[in-house]
Amino acid sequence: MSRTLFISDLHLSEERPETTRAFMAFVAGPAQGATALYILGDLLEYWAGDDDVEAPLAASVCAALAGLADQGVRVFFMGGNRDFLVGEGFAARARLALLSDPCEIRLGDRRVLLSHGDELCTDDVGYQAYRRQVRDPQWLQGFLGRPLAERKAFIDNLRKQSALAKQGKSEGIMDVNREAVETLLRTHGHPLLIHGHTHRPARHLHVVDGVECERWVLADWDDSAPYLEWNGDTLAAHRYRPVQPQAH
Ligand code: MN
Repeated sequence: MSRTLFISDLHLSEERPETTRAFMAFVAGPAQGATALYILGDLLEYWAGDDDVEAPLAASVCAALAGLADQGVRVFFMGGNRDFLVGEGFAARARLALLSDPCEIRLGDRRVLLSHGDELCTDDVGYQAYRRQVRDPQWLQGFLGRPLAERKAFIDNLRKQSALAKQGKSEGIMDVNREAVETLLRTHGHPLLIHGHTHRPARHLHVVDGVECERWVLADWDDSAPYLEWNGDTLAAHRYRPVQPQAH
C-alpha cells in the first residue's frame, strides 16, 4: 500500500524538547515505510541560514530525515514563514528535495496543490508587508551576508515582536482569507489544497466556479505528532501519540 504523509508547523526548537521527541518518534513510527513525506513549512521555529546546520537540533533533525531517505522514503520540504531560509545546504544534509510555494503534485488521479499558507492570510496587512520585505532577493542577500550570530539576534528580536503583535490581532485576521484561497484554487484549475500555518486543523469545502474543492489544513505539533495521510485512496488526519517515558 502506498502512503504519502503531510506535516507542518512542528516549530522545532531547543525550548520544546517534547516536540523534538514527538518528531523522532514519528520518524521511527508512522513515517517508516511511507512512499513520501511532505513537510509544508515551519519544521523549525526559526532558521537563520544553512551555515547553522551543525547546530545540535538541526543536525539531529537532518540525520533523522536522511535516515528516512536512506530507507527509500522520498522527503520533500517547503519553507514556511519561520524557516524559508532553509536552502540547498540543509537539503543536502537531510537528503530532501526543496519545493517552491505553491507546488502541484498528484495523489492518484487527484491534482493537489501544496502551500505553507501564510500568503493566504491577506487580512493581516502588517504581516504581508513584512513578508514582502524578507522575501525580497536584495534584502535576503544583505541579510545572509551578515554573521550568523547577528542574524540569530535579529530573528530572536523579530520573534519577540511577533509574539507581542499577535496579542493585539483578532483571531479572524490570522486565518486565511476566503477570497485569497478561492483565487488560488481558480488560478490552479480547482485542485485539492493542503496547507498549514494557521494551526486550525480542518477540512473545508470551497465551491469555486461551481467546482467543489477540498481544503485540508494541517495541525501544529505539541508532544504528539499530527499528520495527514493519503493511503492511495483517501486522505485522513491522524495524530500519533508516542508513549511518554514514565516518571518514577
Ligand atoms: Mn507558519
